[in-house]
This record gives sequence, C-alpha cells and structure tokens, in this order.
Amino acid sequence: MLTVDGLRSRYGRIEVLHGIDLHVDSGEIVTVVGANGAGKTTLLRCLSGVQPVTGGSITFRGEPLVPVPAHRRLARGLAQSPEGRQIFTNLTVEENLRLGAFLFTDDRVEKDMDDAFAMFPILRDKRNLAAGGLSGGQQQMLAMARALMGRPSCLLLDEPSMGLAPIIVSQIFEVVRGMKDLGVTVLLVEQNAFGALKIADRGYVMETGRVTMEGPAEELIADPRIREAYLGI
Ligand code: ATP
Repeated sequence: MLTVDGLRSRYGRIEVLHGIDLHVDSGEIVTVVGANGAGKTTLLRCLSGVQPVTGGSITFRGEPLVPVPAHRRLARGLAQSPEGRQIFTNLTVEENLRLGAFLFTDDRVEKDMDDAFAMFPILRDKRNLAAGGLSGGQQQMLAMARALMGRPSCLLLDEPSMGLAPIIVSQIFEVVRGMKDLGVTVLLVEQNAFGALKIADRGYVMETGRVTMEGPAEELIADPRIREAYLGI
C-alpha cells in the first residue's frame, strides 16, 4: 500500500532523513520506533506532505505521492493524526469530527460519527463540549476519531501515547489494534516501543535519520539490542 524508497529530507542545510526505506502492506499495523530526534515525525510529515522531500520516492496505492499536495492526500486515502493532537480546542467534539469529514457531504458522515462514538464512547458523552476541556487521553481519542472521519485506507499516527497515563495508553493501543478489523492500515510512530510493537505486525527502528533494524514485531521485541536500548529490559 505504501512504499518509501531512499527518502531524504532536510531542515535548511541539515539533512535529517538519510535515505529511509520502508513499506506498509494493506491491512498491516507497522510501527516505527526510535529515540527522541531520530526523525520519526519528519518521516510522517513527508508522508502527509507538509515537509519537503529532497530525495527518494514515496508510492501510495501504486502512485507517486510526492507530487500530490498535502491537502489532496486525504482524498487519496492517507490521513494523519498528528503529534500533539492539534485538535481545535474552541470547537466542540462534534465540530472537530465534522471537520475530519470535510471531503464528504453524504449520509455516511452521520454513520461514521456513530462509528466513532462506538469506538470512543466518552466522545459521545462530550460531543457538545469544547474540545479544549477534554483530558489529554480524550483529546488523543478525538484526534484519532477525526482522522478516521476522513475514511482513510491508511492512517498515520504520530506518538498517540505521548504524555498519557499508562492505563490510557493501553486503551489507546487497544483501539489502534482494533483499526485492523475496520480495514484501516496503520503506520504508527512511537517512543513507547514496547506498547507499539506489541500491537504491530512489523516494526522498524530509526536512529538519527536511518532505519537500523526491521522485522516482525515479535522478533524485534525479543531482540536483545532492542530490549536493552528501547525496552529497558
Ligand atoms: P520526537 O519524538 O522528539 O518528535 P522524532 O524522532 O520524531 O523525535 P524529528 O522530530 O523528526 O524526530 O526530528 C529529527 C531531527 O530533525 C532532530 O535532530 C530535530 O532536532 C530536527 N528538527 C525537527 N524539526 C525541526 C525544525 N523545524 N527545524 C530544524 N530542525 C528540526
């Protein structure tokens, strides 16, 4: 579904992605783990089109993605739930969700909203409240639900566990795992390597702008280098 080949990107004169190769097959959950500053967010920003690509290629559903402007990528089936959630705090929960469906005017929007509320019941309870009043975990749920309202075939998730209590993190990861059953392919970027790998099919490890390891998630979890560097075991 998504193939990244030799991807390079830079901020000014400083190159931060030095030729990333990865792929995500239809129906998979793929996790990219790596320390702070490894380039995970930059990779996702290249995929969603808000960060210039200076080399290599991205192919999405058989077509080159780099020439497609960011605002057209959702229509191609690629949605992002960004780092820091970026919800509209002074709009209600429902208004945030409707913005996620801005491409559509059909009756399915109401059904999609019901599906989002079924996935995150707390959002139904708070649908008429300002999103800024939600807890961090609820805001993360809203960011993910809003991205799903765009009916993506592939969802890019940037650090959904960031800053959340462990019990909420488990809930969020369970929901991500459930997206598989909805037919949504997921590329998940996380510093919480253990939680993210546990729900993934495959994983990649990024270090200073390069992929240094890749493989089935259970093999990465069992690898002594990963256990020491990322799992604290
Ligand atoms: P984090 O988990 O902290 O978001 P990350 O793995 O997502 O880390 P990036 O945010 O992609 O890493 O950062 C990769 C490198 O690019 C880092 O060295 C960072 O300092 C640098 N960088 C990120 N954003 C900018 C920017 N706007 N201008 C200049 N350098 C940047």
